[in-house]
Amino acid sequence: MKVLRFVCLILAALVGNSVFAQSQRKLGQLMRERGEYYFTLSVDDPLAIQSIGEICSVDATDGKTVVAYANQKEYDKLLSLGYQPELQTPPSLRANVTMWDGQGTYNWDSYLTYDQYVSMMEGFSDKAIEGRECTLFSLGTLSTSAHRQLLGVRINNGNPEGKPKFLYTSTMHGDEITGMILMLRLIDELCTSTDSRIVNLVNDLDIYIMPLTNPDGTYKGGNSTVNSAQRYNGNNIDLNRNYKDYYQGAHPDGNSYEDETIWTMAMGDENLFTMSANYHGGAEVMNYPWDAVYDDHADKDWYEYVCTEYVQIARQTYSSYMSDTYSDGVTNGAAWYVITGSRQDYMNAYGQCREVTVECSTTKTPSASQLSNFWNYNHNSMLAFMEQCRNGVHGVVRDADTGEPVEGVKVTVLNHDSETSFITTHSVGDFHRPIKGGSYIIQFTKEGYCSERMNVTVADGQRVDLDVYLTPEGNCPVLMNCYEQLMPSTDGSYVMGYLDDSTLHMPTHNNSSSVTTTSVDVTPTENGFTVGEESTIPQVTLTAYGSNGQYYIRYNNRYLARATYSNTLTWNTTTSQYGRWYINANGIYITRNNTNYYLYYSNGSFQISTSQNNNITFYTEGNCPPEQVVSLGIDWNWWTPTLEMSLDDLEAALGSNAILINSQDEGFARYDGEGWSGTLDTIVAGQMYRILTTAATEFTLSGEAVVSTITFLPGYNWFGYTGSQSKNVAMALGDFTPTEGDTITAEDGTTATFTNGSWNDNFILVPGHGYVYHSNAQESRNITFE
Ligand SMILES: [Zn+2]
Repeated sequence: MKVLRFVCLILAALVGNSVFAQSQRKLGQLMRERGEYYFTLSVDDPLAIQSIGEICSVDATDGKTVVAYANQKEYDKLLSLGYQPELQTPPSLRANVTMWDGQGTYNWDSYLTYDQYVSMMEGFSDKAIEGRECTLFSLGTLSTSAHRQLLGVRINNGNPEGKPKFLYTSTMHGDEITGMILMLRLIDELCTSTDSRIVNLVNDLDIYIMPLTNPDGTYKGGNSTVNSAQRYNGNNIDLNRNYKDYYQGAHPDGNSYEDETIWTMAMGDENLFTMSANYHGGAEVMNYPWDAVYDDHADKDWYEYVCTEYVQIARQTYSSYMSDTYSDGVTNGAAWYVITGSRQDYMNAYGQCREVTVECSTTKTPSASQLSNFWNYNHNSMLAFMEQCRNGVHGVVRDADTGEPVEGVKVTVLNHDSETSFITTHSVGDFHRPIKGGSYIIQFTKEGYCSERMNVTVADGQRVDLDVYLTPEGNCPVLMNCYEQLMPSTDGSYVMGYLDDSTLHMPTHNNSSSVTTTSVDVTPTENGFTVGEESTIPQVTLTAYGSNGQYYIRYNNRYLARATYSNTLTWNTTTSQYGRWYINANGIYITRNNTNYYLYYSNGSFQISTSQNNNITFYTEGNCPPEQVVSLGIDWNWWTPTLEMSLDDLEAALGSNAILINSQDEGFARYDGEGWSGTLDTIVAGQMYRILTTAATEFTLSGEAVVSTITFLPGYNWFGYTGSQSKNVAMALGDFTPTEGDTITAEDGTTATFTNGSWNDNFILVPGHGYVYHSNAQESRNITFE
């Protein structure tokens, strides 16, 4: 789909003018009949590429030439705007297409007619071995003249409930056909192989595979051949620009949703697939979200991990596979080039699905004899990618009172997820969250229940299963996002401020999953509370909340303590004879007759002592400190701090992953393998620094947030965007009035120009990123980001 190969396409320019004109006329006639134009355009301005992409489908660009597709309407618009497209032979007409003769056994080395394809799809159910369900499904029959269907096969062991759903699809661009054959061959293997790896996949997943999601495009030349396949669908619409777009809203391409789009969006909404990959052709590269904006996906590090794994496994078979576009074979969609209305973005933003785009062959319709090679390159990678669907954090959420599974619980990874990356529980309360190895706090929320949190640590390639119980709403605790440690108070009196009623709770735990809460009436006093010397000593309980060894002790919906225990919590006051209870940073303590007895935790149980044991730390709700998550790629990065921070902090965070930091005034800091030195002595929020790294690196800085005022001098200015969120350039600059011709350039070379009183809206400023502003004004001007 996206490709940077032009060599064969510009041959036309080398032949004589009259011959060229003649061939252009012939191609023009052919394309008018087909309804789809394929052409190149010369561009002298990077902004022009974006403008062209807003009119038709840009398939590739190297910055000087654009390869694109258009339907008649889009093509007419280009011509009316004065563009001069140079028509090229469509990819499917350049291919050496061999169709299967239908004789004997199909050997995956020829293309299939539409009827052969349908018949093969219908046959998988019968072909499935004992213990496999291979069920044909159809999303619908297209209303175009040939009435072709969007078919798929659902594969599992007959018992799919509670398992992650996985989706593979291909060929939404009708002339990108390699993936279609890969998908068919994979279905065949999943339905028939007894290899243990396949058995495990079928047992653990609920798999949906749709080999051909644009049949009208692929069989544009009739049901008997894929020769003259086209990119667009039967109504000449690019399906991969036709989806609802999280950033641009409905109908980003200006067209109504095609049937193929409506059905696929509904399937995604209904199934909430855990993972998916969608196969294209025209390049060889793994492409992950977002396509529409430069913002990082919350799971960027996971995407890099699984995409890199895909490429590396494929390269065990063919060492230069997936190297035509990027040497590591992996890219963020927008970093390649921006498109809106893509399926990948839809599935990620609305379908709770982690979907990637696999560009699997440089040639869109390769010679049929090559098909087996592409299977060999991709086969193990396809299995490994599916296996990632079993990893990460999984579990079941149940009602704590009834034990019934709870559907539709929002599962959010705190300090990680964005508005688009959370998931919800499925029909049997099950949830499935692939995630990069690490330690996370996962929050479970649903209306009518108290929110619950669990700490979890998971490694790459492994899975953790959680049993989660949600308590129906009532006296729900207040969950804290951030904690402040309570400082000791000499008399402990501040702690008693928590006693806002006459009931105290203390913990009695038999084991980590069984919590008993009992309570007693006590009399609050200025210094705490008392129970009469003669009265029965209270059996009281603090509730402990948490999991995996970490407990938060709460009282009256306030968190009082956080402690890490091995497993057992026990505390019983029945036999204690003390009259006053305190809690402070030294522990929970009890005083009677002017003697303090401290509660502390030791060897798996709470104990009482007359000496302080400072082993329980108390926390209360606090304000979350501002943080800046910094993610630097290999090579040069344009970066700015959004927090008050020191050069030492930055150098420590970079460790040995960076070798140079430059500022605009030529100040520098250099890392020589042992330490940092140079002329740079401070780091100023709002100034841009260029950091040269030797390895991708990620770290989190915390400190005071700053509102920085930047001065733009005439000419070039390095600056950093310190706003609180990503904004397009016009919004980010707020009241600031640019001068005609002012430009902003980003690290990736994209530039916005202030022309005729406005900016190009698609240029996004991202907090923490650096930019170069060229000011045409005669005087210096200030700007403040908020
Ligand atoms: Zn494509």
